[in-house]
Order: sequence, then C-alpha cells, then structure tokens
Amino acid sequence: MSDIIQLLPDHVANQIAAGEVVQRPASVVKELLENAIDAGATQINLLIKDAGKTLIQVADNGSGMSATDARLCFERHATSKIKQAEDLFNLNTKGFRGEALASIAAIAHVDLKTKPETEEVGTHVKIHGSELITQEVCVTPTGTIISVKNLFYNIPARRNFLKSNNVEVRHIIDEFQRVALAHPQVGFSLHHNGNELFQLSSSNHRQRIVAIFGGKTNEKLVPIAEDTELVKLSGFVGKPEFAKKSRGEQFFFVNHRFIKSPYLNHAVQAAYEGLLKEKTHPSYFLYLEIDASRIDINIHPTKTEIKFDDEHALYAILRSAIKHSLGQFSVAPVLDFDKDPTLETPYSFKEKQVYQPAIEVDRNFNPFEAETKQYVKSGGGNTPSIPNSFKKNSQTWEALYTGISDENEVPTIELESEEVTGSLFTEETLAVKEHLDIFQLHKKYIISSTKTGLLVIDQYRAHTRILYEELLVNITQTPALSQQLLFPLNLSFSAQEVEVLGALRDSLEQTGLIFSSLEKDNIEIVGIPTLISESETQILLEQLLADFSLEIPESGFTQTDVLAKSLAKSMAVRAGTVLNIEEQQHLVNQLFACKEPQVSPFGKKIYSMLTSTDLDKKFM
Ligand code: ADP
Ligand code: MG
Repeated sequence: MSDIIQLLPDHVANQIAAGEVVQRPASVVKELLENAIDAGATQINLLIKDAGKTLIQVADNGSGMSATDARLCFERHATSKIKQAEDLFNLNTKGFRGEALASIAAIAHVDLKTKPETEEVGTHVKIHGSELITQEVCVTPTGTIISVKNLFYNIPARRNFLKSNNVEVRHIIDEFQRVALAHPQVGFSLHHNGNELFQLSSSNHRQRIVAIFGGKTNEKLVPIAEDTELVKLSGFVGKPEFAKKSRGEQFFFVNHRFIKSPYLNHAVQAAYEGLLKEKTHPSYFLYLEIDASRIDINIHPTKTEIKFDDEHALYAILRSAIKHSLGQFSVAPVLDFDKDPTLETPYSFKEKQVYQPAIEVDRNFNPFEAETKQYVKSGGGNTPSIPNSFKKNSQTWEALYTGISDENEVPTIELESEEVTGSLFTEETLAVKEHLDIFQLHKKYIISSTKTGLLVIDQYRAHTRILYEELLVNITQTPALSQQLLFPLNLSFSAQEVEVLGALRDSLEQTGLIFSSLEKDNIEIVGIPTLISESETQILLEQLLADFSLEIPESGFTQTDVLAKSLAKSMAVRAGTVLNIEEQQHLVNQLFACKEPQVSPFGKKIYSMLTSTDLDKKFM
C-alpha cells in the first residue's frame, strides 16, 4: 500500500487553528487589544465597521515591529513572548501562543503598518488568507496599526453564522470593557461606524469604572483592599442596595487578565449573605495579583478560565475581605430594603402629590387597571420599594371616615364602576356571567362559583396572561396609552444596557414607555405605561435587561414575545395585593376573554376547577 499521510499546508493548518481562536469579530478585538497592551502601548484606539464584519482596526503607540518581525508575526507559533517551556510558568504577557495573528490572517484581509521608535520609516504588510500580497516601506507613526477586513471572507459558513450587528457589537464592547478595566492607566477609544462609543483617558481604577459605567456608579462602589502572601486583592464591590437583576457588571482580573470563575463568584456572593434582595446580583470589579508561578492560564484556548494553586485559601480571603469592607464602608445588615428612596425627601414628596391626580386621567373605562395601580402603590406585600408606612397612612386617613362609610374596602368610583357592571354581562364572558359571589382568598386567589362548581384563580398568573396578550397587541398593532410624567425620569444604565434598550426602543414605546433621550449617561423617560409607577420603572427595565440577558433574539417574533413576557411579569398584580370586588370580577372577565386563559405565558396553570361532583366525593 502506498503512503497516504501528508503534512497539511500551512494555510490549511492556520485556517483550522483559526476556528478555535476566532469565533467572532469580538475574538479578533480581544487578540489585537492584548497584543497592543503587550507591546507597552499607552494609547489604544479601536475602530469598528459593521460590527467588525467589514473592519476591525487597532492602532497603538507601543513598541512597533522591525521589518522582519512584521512579516514573521503572521507565522504560526511566532511569538516574542516566550522562548522556552519554563517561561510558560511565569507569564507576564497576555499572549504567548503565537497563534492569533497567523489565525486571523488565514481568514481575513489583513493590513499592518508598524514602526519601532528607533526607525525612521516603518513597514507595511498586506496578507490575504495567509498569502503575502505586499511588503513595503511606509511612513507611519511609532507603534502599530493593524486592520482586519472582511473577516471570514473565505469561510462563508462562519460568516453566515454570525449574529445580528447588535449582538456582535455587544460582544465587542464586552471585550473592550474587559481590557479597558484591566488597564486603567492606558487610554482607550472605541468608534463604531463613525460614532464614538467610548473615550477613556488614562486614569485609576475607580475613574475607569465610572468612565465606563456612568457617573452614578461612583457612589455605589465600596473599595476592597487586602494584601496577603498569596494574593494582593484590590478593587470595588457594589453596595448591596444597588444589586441588579442581571449579572452584568461582574469582573475578576487576575494579573490584569479578565477571567471567569464560578467558584470565586460564589465567594463574593457569600460575602453578601443576608444583604441582597432575592434574585439580585451585586456588581464587582476585583483585581487579584498572584505570583505567576501559582496560576495556570494554559487550560483554556480562549483563556478566560485559569487554574489556581490554592483555590480554597483564595475563596476565604475574598469572602472575608469583602464582608469586612461592606460592614465598614456602607452598611450594617439592618438595611431597610422596603424603603422607597424617592419618598424620603420633601422634594420628591412634592412630586408624588402632583403626580397622583395625573393617574386619574388615565382611568379610561377600566377601573381594574386603574385600581390595581392604586393598590400596588399602597399595599403590595411582595412588591418591592413600596413603603409600608404609606399603607398605614392611608388606613389612618380612612379611619377618619369610618362613621360615614362602613364599606371601606371598596373605594367609591361611581362612573367607572357602572361601566364595569355593564361589561360584566357581555356575551364573551363565559364562566362568571351570572354569579355575583366572588371573593379573594389570602390576597392570592380569586374564588368564584360557576354553574358546575368552584373556580380558583391565581390572581398573579391570570393578570400576567391578560397583560401578555394585551402587550402583544400593543407592540405589534395598537400602541398602549402612556401616562405622561410631570418631570422626566432620569435613569442610568451601562453602555451595553443602553444598546439593548436602544434595540428595543420602538417596541417599548408601543407599550407606553416613552424616551426623550436614550444615550449612555442620559436616559430620559417622559412617559410610562399606565400600570406602573415612576419608582417601578427602573425595576421594570432591569428585569427586562435580565430577561434579554444582553442578547436580542434574531427573530422579531421571539423578541416581541420575550418583551411582552418580561413586561407582563413586572406589571402584573402580585400575590399579597388586595383586590376589591370590581377588580376581582374584571380580572376574571378579562381572563376568559383571553386566547389562552388556562396557562400563564410561562406555561403555568392559571386556574383550577372544583366541580360539585368533586365536592360530593369529599363527603362520601
Ligand atoms: P502572541 O501574542 O501569542 O505572541 P500573536 O500572534 O498575537 O502571538 O502575535 C505574534 C507576535 O507579533 C507577538 O509575539 C509580538 O511580538 C508581535 N506583535 C503582535 N502585535 C503587536 C503589536 N501591536 N505591537 C508590537 N508587536 C506586536
Ligand atoms: Mg497575541
């Protein structure tokens, strides 16, 4: 038999390797930024076109390369960063594999201009799919400018696999932020399609975090510092009251390299024990410096996971250092999470008073919705940020009138309640047409009798279903009403979150959430859906961001669906909310006018029927 084994040609081998190193434009961004850092740059400018699909350019003022190196850097296993195997155990650079440029050049059109400080002129190299096109002398500043064009031009399958520009840009921003946070002393900029997304000047850690995540971040940070033999720990954690529903801002850096570590994340979470609201995640920006010989970065090709010599000790140090700082700088465990900060100052209390009558205007023949609002504001066991004192006040206030009306459960809403009774007896309401016996059990279930027996409805799930179907119509056809705010509401979100909100803006406006500005550090909301209050808007948006977990689904349908589900979930009346008779009836009627009254949008059972036969059986 003749020999059949051959060595693969270099360009094929490179293309295969590229599959591992370069998954998407953001991978190229990461490699190029890290090369610039390794080259000692103090200013790095990143320029992107079409989410990196057309162009990714990184310009640095680092060491530059000689003419020979400028050609050699595109060879596989060509690196200046390690020379022998031992060096692997004492790495102080980001790169060491000598794979990145070879891989990138195998699957793109690469254009490199570079000049070391000592030279008068630089070198210009063009490579298309591993093939050298030109190498010539050129005039260029000290440092390196590398442009990667038409990524994946020769692997159509990969190119087609890329997500929408929005998603790819978010991945790029992710990588950019990680490198920028790890190296605050280096200046960075990021432009996408000519728009400046970031302009970060050389600074310290705190300033860098604030520059990236917005001015309001500053007051939320608690400094962490601990110096032990094993590790030098520094950085910041977020105050517990600012913890978010999404996991967005959680960063570990080990020796200036971003890493992911579920184990260390757990240590941080453990330090917050008892301080966080349910299902919220604290922000953190933690920098660990560890002797390079005690870690192994080699275990993952894209290098976001590393192995530590002594993980248990790290865990303990991390947890106690954070616990200590949380105790010292901000907060004893006696936090009152239920306090609504907007109610604390006389200034915003003024707002409240003018704001209340504005709601009345929007009642719109729909007492259930309007009353829900009132109850959400005044009662609401489960609804966060509703001060109990508010409820107490209204009770004492009502007590003044006990002599006049003994039915203080049912507020008087004459005109509207007539409308409701009218609609109660329309054709489409099936189950509860003729009954008038309906009541609420444990502020959670609505019980009503029907011809055949007893209907038990989960009020929260039922309302979620009703809102979900309404919102789908709002988003796709008829926009919802919006309550105009007297004073615009200013919120702050990270650049990344703003991108997501931007992508959803049109749909959100259909639901009544009107933005007058949607830019980083300047989100201004002038109208909100009628069912939520001003103070709930932030929570609603955070929930939304968590539900989209920073990915906007490709198909418009899924996007609308996720959006409607998320908003319905946030806006629905919780268990623990008292509903009056009209509200209960209205809820039931609306539920049975839905397309799918049996299940919540999340597939949970909404009601259960107890027939008289079932009851009879119980008495046998
Ligand atoms: P690695 O970073 O793992 O060494 P790369 O393929 O990323 O491998 O880069 C190969 C070599 O090219 C580097 O070792 C470095 O010597 C050189 N190089 C790459 N980018 C730059 C840059 N921006 N400035 C100076 N030298 C660079
Ligand atoms: Mg590299």
